[in-house]
Amino acid sequence: MLLHRIEEVREQVSAWKKEGLTVGLVPTMGALHAGHLSLIKKAKEACDKVVVSDFVNPIQFGPSEDFDKYPRTLDADMELCNKEGVDIVFAPSANEMYGEGQKLSNDNLTYVCPPFFYVNTLCGKTRTGHFDGVCTVVLKLFNIVQPDYAFFGQKDAQQVIIIKKMVKDLNVPIKIVQCPIIREESGLALSSRNKYLSEEGKKDALVLSKILNNIKSCYEKGITDVEALKETAYNFLTEKHNMEYLEIVDKDTLENKTNADDNSIALIACRVENVRLIDNIYLK
Ligand code: AMP
Repeated sequence: MLLHRIEEVREQVSAWKKEGLTVGLVPTMGALHAGHLSLIKKAKEACDKVVVSDFVNPIQFGPSEDFDKYPRTLDADMELCNKEGVDIVFAPSANEMYGEGQKLSNDNLTYVCPPFFYVNTLCGKTRTGHFDGVCTVVLKLFNIVQPDYAFFGQKDAQQVIIIKKMVKDLNVPIKIVQCPIIREESGLALSSRNKYLSEEGKKDALVLSKILNNIKSCYEKGITDVEALKETAYNFLTEKHNMEYLEIVDKDTLENKTNADDNSIALIACRVENVRLIDNIYLK
């Protein structure tokens, strides 16, 4: 069932709750692919009813980012969700989410602001305000749907760490379930933004997963020095890769390490054909 209004979602979910049914939420920005579907499948296994939100959230995009051209494919998304047995697809307008004609900024609206370090490291270095926008919309979706479980992908590792922190710090009574990264056979992590890449760009994009896999195998061979591990990336990079960051940090706190250990995660952000791609891998 496709719903656009907050009140309709609340009514339906509260009817389910009265019957004692458990509810899972899968927040997405649409343009659904097999990565999203893996979250939906997990939600279907764990919960009686599943809500997928399909909303390109304006307040998590910077002024020079791709909000306007971000792929919007609601009809195809509905078809996929129906096939998976999703109970509600919630696709609100920005006016429905933030109020008619509201100025979308933190001098006008209440924002969720996680701790400075979490939101300003890694992707936050170049995406100022991004994670405040993400947490704000996710907490709003949590309050609208009031699910028992919410499902997020490890693909956006920094995002899920920050959401877990928000849920803990603000006593949000929802269990966060983290799901593994779904990749093409080639190794390329699925992303809605892959649609922007040419065939050649897709091949060049394989460098991200190659760099990460190579770091993992070097770590497995006994190299722990983070600088030495990061150096190995230069075997793969060409002039077609505009690297934004490559870091090896703690998988729960995002703190930098001098030496990698079994709690480390390697994360990369790199532009290929000016498309910003991210990927990550646990070293163990
Ligand atoms: P998005 O629509 O990009 O905001 O993503 C919605 C959710 O799907 C987020 O929790 C993402 O981490 C997750 N997701 C996106 N791509 C993948 C993938 N390749 N594998 C697993 N989860 C993914």
